[in-house]
Amino acid sequence: MAKLYFRYGAMNSGKSTALLQVAYNYEERGQHVLLAKPEIDTKGASQIESRLGVTREVDFLIPAGGDARALFRDERERMLRRGAEGLIPAEPVDVACLLVDEAQFLSAQQVDDLFRIAVEDGIPVMAYGIRNDFLTHAFPGSARLLAIAHSLEEMKTICRCGRKAVFNGRVVGGRFVFDGDQVAIDEAAGGGTAPDVVTYESLCGNCYLEESGGRLG
Ligand SMILES: [Zn+2]
Repeated sequence: MAKLYFRYGAMNSGKSTALLQVAYNYEERGQHVLLAKPEIDTKGASQIESRLGVTREVDFLIPAGGDARALFRDERERMLRRGAEGLIPAEPVDVACLLVDEAQFLSAQQVDDLFRIAVEDGIPVMAYGIRNDFLTHAFPGSARLLAIAHSLEEMKTICRCGRKAVFNGRVVGGRFVFDGDQVAIDEAAGGGTAPDVVTYESLCGNCYLEESGGRLG
């Protein structure tokens, strides 16, 4: 039975890099994958960007409120047609895996769509995302993935103090902030100290509480 996998971690834990590596591994064996991400993630628009410099265009974007399973089926059909027309190697021509980046921004309903793609359509789905927001609350997509994914895997990264990072501190204009909207995309890669440039720093529990003055959520 195909499974829904959720690989989660703090910011900068290498999720996009790992996703692109998995795509590469499949394709090296002559298999086909489809890449998707929610449309809300404006960073890189329709690309998956690894911090190591590798980027790749997604096959489809999932808009807010969109039916992720229907979008997947359209792309799968397109791939099967291209195989039949000899545009891609004919065997094996079906989708071996669906890879979803920034899955925290999906709705619970869209995560259910991914579950059905795995269980009912028989295609493995690997979703990558951040578990919690800058106030330590679970993102809707992540909460649902943690609840129903067949397989959970934590991707680890370290805090500035050397402990394992589990939180994502939001930095605006060079200072940690603890109020604001749940979603604020870090547009400026490489950081910055301009007044409204948003960046994130992965923090352990100790450093998060230190920065927040003891506030959790
Ligand atoms: Zn720390």
